[in-house]
Amino acid sequence: MKITRPSILFPLFSDVTSIPGIGPKIAANLSKKIGNNIIDLLFHLPHSVIKRLDTLELNNCPSHSIITKKIKINKHLPGYYNTAKPYKILGVCENIDIEIIFFNFRNDYLKSKFPISSEVIVSGIINWYNGKPQITHPDYIVKPENINEIPKFETKYPLSNGLSNKILRKSIHYALEKIPNSLSEWLPSNIVKKNKWFTFKESLKYIHSPKNIYELNLMATCKERLGFDELLANQIGLSLYKKNRTIKRLTSVKKNGRLFKEIIKDLNFDLTNSQNQCLKEINFDLNNNTQMMRMLQGDVGSGKTLVAVSAILNIIESKKQAALMAPTDLLSVQHYQYIKKIFHKTHIKIGLLTGKIKKSEKLKILNDIKIGKLDLVIGTHSLISNDVYFKDLGIAIIDEQHKFGVEQRNKIILKGHNVHLLLMTATPIPRSLTLTMYGDLDISIINEIPKNRLPVITKALPINRYNEIIEAIDRALKKGEKVYWICPLLELSERLDVVALKNRYKTLKAIFNKYNPVLAHGKMLKTERENSINDFLTNKSKILVASTVIEVGIDIPDATIIIIENAERFGLAQLHQLRGRVGRSSLQSYCILMYNKDINDLGKFRLETLRNNNDGFYVAEKDLELRGPGEVLGTRQSGEEKFKLSSLRDIKLLYKAKKTADEIVSNKLSNKEKNLNILLSIFNKDEYIKLINKV
Ligand code: ADP
Ligand code: MG
Repeated sequence: MKITRPSILFPLFSDVTSIPGIGPKIAANLSKKIGNNIIDLLFHLPHSVIKRLDTLELNNCPSHSIITKKIKINKHLPGYYNTAKPYKILGVCENIDIEIIFFNFRNDYLKSKFPISSEVIVSGIINWYNGKPQITHPDYIVKPENINEIPKFETKYPLSNGLSNKILRKSIHYALEKIPNSLSEWLPSNIVKKNKWFTFKESLKYIHSPKNIYELNLMATCKERLGFDELLANQIGLSLYKKNRTIKRLTSVKKNGRLFKEIIKDLNFDLTNSQNQCLKEINFDLNNNTQMMRMLQGDVGSGKTLVAVSAILNIIESKKQAALMAPTDLLSVQHYQYIKKIFHKTHIKIGLLTGKIKKSEKLKILNDIKIGKLDLVIGTHSLISNDVYFKDLGIAIIDEQHKFGVEQRNKIILKGHNVHLLLMTATPIPRSLTLTMYGDLDISIINEIPKNRLPVITKALPINRYNEIIEAIDRALKKGEKVYWICPLLELSERLDVVALKNRYKTLKAIFNKYNPVLAHGKMLKTERENSINDFLTNKSKILVASTVIEVGIDIPDATIIIIENAERFGLAQLHQLRGRVGRSSLQSYCILMYNKDINDLGKFRLETLRNNNDGFYVAEKDLELRGPGEVLGTRQSGEEKFKLSSLRDIKLLYKAKKTADEIVSNKLSNKEKNLNILLSIFNKDEYIKLINKV
């Protein structure tokens, strides 16, 4: 179904190329740099405002400040066009001699603008040079009677190449006129009143074109309202989507968790409270007659797999099939082996499907999935390829979900009818990002580490204490433990980084030859890399020298030391992920962050943060503060949601928007449907409009 935008919004969605007085080149630039539509210009907010007419006495104006002054013109000292010699105009202002300077301007133009003995108002940046004030290339030159031509408050915009502030201001002023006056308020009136907000149109006007000090001081309030609009549109969309999904009626089959109880009887540990809580939440979903869409977040080593296993068993108990998808062959195999081991007393049939399976074997597995002989299939992307048909898929679980795109997520739930979906991630996601990116999902969080684990001890050491590190490694190796040695391999400096990594491998090989160090990085053949990791896993090697290829999910419990060289070059969340490779058994583990002597303050702060905190969610929040959402989630995901008017760091406003959205969607707040259409349309959430009538 194609959605048509409410016609009242047509002017806002007309092309920027329609702005009069702007040539095709600038129009093209506008549409490329800022957006195609008038509304994109309006959402390009100024970063500051210059008060041009608010000038001190000339004598007190410091260099580099903007002044607007009336100057009596006394004399012209012409320069030469196209030479380095400037054209100087001498005048007097407040009894002080002042020079106005131009390079490469036409003499006749300057003569007409600055007639001798006349008074001219000039606005621009002042500089004191040998005790004399100068203004070079003033921004405004007007006759005293035309002082109104100089904006009292001049908005300054984030510029991009080829677009001057003047042009942006002009275009945006034109765009402001395009906002219909008859746009009705979509926000609930009590919220508008309580926050003393202005209308959408007024807010944009005061931000882009404040007429007086009063309007100027409204900037923050107006930005808040617009940010709220944007967040609200996002939250209403997610909320509508979620509501639409949860009204689906499934025939629920009561499961009593019999199979899972048998399994945990055999484990030599108890589940953590957090794990139990998550189990409860998941089982509630499964016993309900709605489709589960849940994300299970839990730091590395928090025991997510067992929680997934419980869901799998409940589905199998109700005679349906389960699928567990992981991003790599290695992880799939690890899950397969782990689950096979804990299922050994049951009659549950498990299959493994990866790109590596031999063709004949694959055909058999495909057939077994189709006829329902397999209860659980574990695998990579192979699980969503077109030749996979399930007899009756009941649940799909995706591990390390951030490695998969939305399409892949959708593809696996289409392998059955009303398939429950459980996403798992070891990347702790800050609250604000969870709400905005995954607001359509229910969230379960394991925020507890199994009791038998000792927290990893993190140390930051300068590279010149290398010898101590070698000794520490030697001691661990002698005890039979294993060591990761990580070096950065960044795209920008890839070639040098590979060389450094190989050199490190050589030196470690020279020192620890009998422990057979192996090398793994993203630039070597996949098979070679997998062989290395496998040797490390199976104890043929005790030292793995690697780039961040080992970041995701590998579970090698007897590795107890991770050295991260050039730690200052990694992001916080990434360092935390790497650290999670150790501390996966009851042995004391260490993470050693080695830094270079030229480390900057930010780098130091990052290492310090990590040294003092083992809590991944805390680290993730800090990472968000330092780097912004794009970096924290990785480019692919952050591209899916772009917020122009709101900062995801304003968590209070976000909560407010979520609450309002939930109230609107659950009809607790009366809100005319037409207005909701307009809000969603303005923020390009048209896809959700069709759900308004459905829920
Ligand atoms: P992750 O959340 O990183 O996927 P895993 O599910 O791989 O963690 O669990 C890591 C290890 O911890 C596994 O060997 C698992 O058997 C073990 N484990 C899980 N839950 C507990 C627990 N409550 N107590 C002790 N060990 C546990
Ligand atoms: Mg895991």
